[in-house]
Amino acid sequence: MTSQFDKVRTRIAPSPTGFLHLGTARTALYSWAYARHHGGEFVLRIEDTDVARSTQDSVDQIIAAMNWLGLSYDEGPIYQMQRLDRYQAVIEQLIAEGKAYHCYATPAELDAMREAQRARGEKTLYDRRWRPEPGKLLPVPPEGVKPVVRFANPVDGDVTWDDVVKGSITINNREIDDLIIARADGVPTYNFAVVVDDWDMRISHVFRGDEHVNNTPWQINIFNALGAPLPAFGHLPIILGDDGLKLSKRRGAVSVMDYAANGYLPEAMLNYLARLGWSHGDDELFSAAQMVSWFDGSHLSKSPAQWDPAKLDWVNGHYVKQIDETRLAELAVVQLAAQGIAVTLEQVQPKVGLFKERCATVAALAGWLAMYFAPVAPSAEDRAAHVTDAVRPALAMLAERLAALTEWSKSGIQQALKDTLAATGLKMPQLAVPVRVLVCGRTQTPSLDAVLEHFEQKKVLDRLQST
Ligand code: GLU
Repeated sequence: MTSQFDKVRTRIAPSPTGFLHLGTARTALYSWAYARHHGGEFVLRIEDTDVARSTQDSVDQIIAAMNWLGLSYDEGPIYQMQRLDRYQAVIEQLIAEGKAYHCYATPAELDAMREAQRARGEKTLYDRRWRPEPGKLLPVPPEGVKPVVRFANPVDGDVTWDDVVKGSITINNREIDDLIIARADGVPTYNFAVVVDDWDMRISHVFRGDEHVNNTPWQINIFNALGAPLPAFGHLPIILGDDGLKLSKRRGAVSVMDYAANGYLPEAMLNYLARLGWSHGDDELFSAAQMVSWFDGSHLSKSPAQWDPAKLDWVNGHYVKQIDETRLAELAVVQLAAQGIAVTLEQVQPKVGLFKERCATVAALAGWLAMYFAPVAPSAEDRAAHVTDAVRPALAMLAERLAALTEWSKSGIQQALKDTLAATGLKMPQLAVPVRVLVCGRTQTPSLDAVLEHFEQKKVLDRLQST
């Protein structure tokens, strides 16, 4: 860390134009873990200068997702739109110092400028026509045109930084032009507001997606123009979908809270996101606390990460098996409610242990539990294949024996199954599979006596008789 900062401070700066995207969640996680590792602070800043697309609902969703993941922040949410006076003051200071200037060029003029540059085979860059220079005669400001403000970028020389992720990056100032830092309506642009904010908020380390690499030279120049200490930058490579294309809404869920709704656990999501671009030896399964103790900014990957739903399921399945059963049951109650099945914790809790080993998600667990609380609908194929005329007498016999049980217990059910097998000469699967089809709506379950024990006796009898 550079000595200009007295402690590590990181931030996440989402634009509230939708839910918390998986990529932003990963950036938030790394920023949070880095701050926590160093005993520093983590700030939530809401970049809401795109007024038309920003909503409070998005802010609420972003905060809900951060809370769900357990990414606690020490300051914020700080809203950029509440800081307009501050940006305005800094812009005026830059103009007064000759480091920024008004530009009255119209969109049509700029189009014509770029057209001419293209015709000459040049890079299309703003030609600095409104930039004051010693001895230069500026055009007369047109009547009634509100100017934008441009930053007077250095015209030459290199901008270099040692990226925490990508290593040394150098861009020549001839490659970039005089950036607009305030629009005609006075609202600052991203590249300017972000610098003033990072400066005011004493951000020591900026982690963000690598789509911002190209913005960093401008930002560094603005930091320098302001005499502000330069944070370290770390640009995280993009996350690719399992089809090798950029992860996007069109290719499956990209919202963190969609995963919550679909029965993923926050500790699994955190663990999985952590590994998307960072490693600690061969460790695949670890807690947030372990990650914090390891996350020192090293071992960040330069290459794109690949979203792997099967691996996420594996990680999630690990935590489904591991977490406290009461919590698991509470989550299953919520999942069942989402499927329109209202149940109590008392009804669900005794059953989760029987199925959790088989479940990658709480939604899958709810899928198992539903058979206890809602009608099952065995498929026609399963009925035809397993509930055959040959087995019907045995099913009737089993139903009779089960009906005769005075105590509905696993051992009693097991005895009824055994007696039926002995009397009919069938093998266990020949009897158990049709019972599963009729009672559970599927051909495979954990041990049948254990599964049946959790039903009400009457429900089992009714379903057995529904042949
Ligand atoms: N609002 C920007 C984004 O969501 C923040 C970029 C930054 O962290 O500087 O991409």
